[in-house]
Parts: sequence; C-alpha cells; structure tokens
Amino acid sequence: MAEGATGRKPLISGNWKMHNNHFEAIQLVQTLSYALSDDDYAVVDVSVHPPFTDIRSVQTVLDADRIPMLLGAQHCHFEEKGAFTGEVAPAMLAKLNVKLVIAGHSERRELFGETDEMVNAKVKAIIRNSMTPILCVGETLTEREAGQAETKVTGQVRAGLAGVTKAAVGAMVIAYEPIWAIGTGKTATPEDAQAMCAHVRAAVREVSGPDAAASVRIQYGGSVKAANAAELLTQPDIDGALVGGASLEAENFARIAQYRLH
Ligand code: PEP
Repeated sequence: MAEGATGRKPLISGNWKMHNNHFEAIQLVQTLSYALSDDDYAVVDVSVHPPFTDIRSVQTVLDADRIPMLLGAQHCHFEEKGAFTGEVAPAMLAKLNVKLVIAGHSERRELFGETDEMVNAKVKAIIRNSMTPILCVGETLTEREAGQAETKVTGQVRAGLAGVTKAAVGAMVIAYEPIWAIGTGKTATPEDAQAMCAHVRAAVREVSGPDAAASVRIQYGGSVKAANAAELLTQPDIDGALVGGASLEAENFARIAQYRLH
C-alpha cells in the first residue's frame, strides 16, 4: 500500500538524537523489530538514526537478524576527509550500510551554526556517497506568527536543493518540521501540516520540476506520537514522519509505523 502524493511507501524515521549508548541501542532496535512484522515493512519504510557510536552495533543487529529496517545517521560532514576534528565523513557512514542521513535538522542549525550553504554542501555529499538525505526545513514560532512560515521554508528548500540534479531530488526526503513543534508536545494540525507539506512540494516543483516534486517524499516532524500519527500521515502530501522523542520507546514508535491499523 502506498499513500500520499508520491505513490511510494511512507518513510517513518526515528531520530534518537543524543540518547542511548550502544547497549541501549541494541536493546531498542531489537525490541522494535519484535513489534514490527513483514506486513508492516510491506507498506512502510522504517529507519532508525542512532548516535554515531551506536551505528556499528545497530548495523550488526540488523544484518544478523535480517531486519529490513533502514539504518540512518543524524549528521555527517560535507568534506570527504581531512583535518576536521570530531567530524565523520559521509563515506564512513556509507561503509556501515547507512542509507539515510539527516541534513539541516533545526537543532544543528540553531545550536551548531549550520547555515543553508553548509546544509546544501552536506546534501550533495550524502548523495555523492550513494545515500539519501533527509533535508529538514521549518519555521520558528516567531516566523509563523509573523506570517513568514512559507517564505522561510521556500528559502530553505531552494538553498538546500541548489545544484542537486532533478533525479537526485526526486529520490530525496524532505522533512517539514515546524521548530515550535519539535520536542514541545505541540503538533501542527493535520490541515496546517498538509498545507505546509504541499507548500514544500510546490517549492520543489519550482526548483527541480514536476517529476522530482511528484516523487520526493515529504515527512512531517514535530511531536508525532502514536495518538496523532494516523491523522497526520493520511494527509495527501505527507509521505512519512520524522520522529524524535516517541522513537525512543519501541512500542510507541512501532505504533506510529502501524498508523494505518489504528
Ligand atoms: C525531531 O527530532 O526531528 C523531532 C521531530 O522530535 P520530536 O518528535 O520529539 O518533536
């Protein structure tokens, strides 16, 4: 079953942020795998994005138990190698079978000074290394109240996709994450989330053309949990969810991935 505008499977992604050591990560991914069945994987793609120190351990579990969950990362540097103390190169992630990398999460933009230019360089580096970027865009509460949400998001989409081929954009994921909804327990209404995701798709159409806009997957993120997943994920322009807090609880996250059953 494919839902939404793209006809592709929705993508439900768990961003673990800076939580879980590698033992806890193994336990979480195993518990999650017990809660999901082949029927689930037939209709949704599921990815987990542990901290760097957990990735190898989670990869080993996914491989050993043949769990069809996609391995993700939360960040990488945009250079291939070099004197960048503390950073991780995209090729290092690709070697660990990482398939999806989050780029431009609002926490990285706000707390670590990532600019639109850096995010764009990162998107290109992820694609160059045969992985899929999840490009995050979204407005602050002040910007929303000032009526600037659409302008902000359009600017981030344009900047993030600059110089990326149309085919690569079509294979990408963009996460619309209103910053005021991340980790706050406040969620955009399904109508607002739909309108903003449709707006993101329109911005992609303008930058990369109709084919890319038709196939890019657009996630909603911001306090998604089992109780609100279905009403958000059944909106026509919402092709999945980027989930923070609720992805740390296997049962809650599994229920989000199984939103069609609830
Ligand atoms: C996120 O980390 O991208 C996120 C949306 O977090 P939460 O689900 O906790 O709001």
